[in-house]
Amino acid sequence: KMEKTLIAKIEDVLPDTINPGRLKHTLGVVEAAKYLAQKYKENIFDAEIAALLHDFAKDYNEEQLREYIGQHDIIVDNILMKTYELLHGKVGASIARIEFGISNQDILNAIENHTTGRRGMSNLEKIIYLADFIEKGRKYPGVEQLRKLADENLDEAVLMALNNTISYVINTGKLLHPNTLYARNEILYETKNIRGIG
Ligand code: FE
Ligand code: FE
Repeated sequence: KMEKTLIAKIEDVLPDTINPGRLKHTLGVVEAAKYLAQKYKENIFDAEIAALLHDFAKDYNEEQLREYIGQHDIIVDNILMKTYELLHGKVGASIARIEFGISNQDILNAIENHTTGRRGMSNLEKIIYLADFIEKGRKYPGVEQLRKLADENLDEAVLMALNNTISYVINTGKLLHPNTLYARNEILYETKNIRGIG
């Protein structure tokens, strides 16, 4: 199968691209993403490929990321540029397209937006976003509650993950990317049937 060849190709280069701890995390995200894809009836191969590549550029240093962005004419907003941890999604998506020949836009979007979320996330984007927070290696207060919710309702779980992220970002004095807030408000609006003023 075409997909199998692609997965093997990614698995070949991954250990030379990311550190061992991150490789373990990535394989945890693969497992969680495949589980969620099966549960919520999304394409399991797409979930596996997006999960395998989601942190591909995370061990690039700031200079490497900036250089890649400059060379590939990637458009980056101020907050992404100032928040080093958020940049690897955009670069990872570009590598997925150029180096691995991935043309499925949903997979590319899932890689690109796993760092912030965004308005109008597809189910695959939600699955990768969520799998990143619930993979088995993750340990933080509230992770069990989030895992339980992930088993029950995809949107509710993504909403909780977005809320956790926003709280964390505010409590640690970091920049909040507006896409995270847009994603959170949209899901809240849709799932809770909140009415606007008037
Ligand atoms: Fe990441
Ligand atoms: Fe990750």
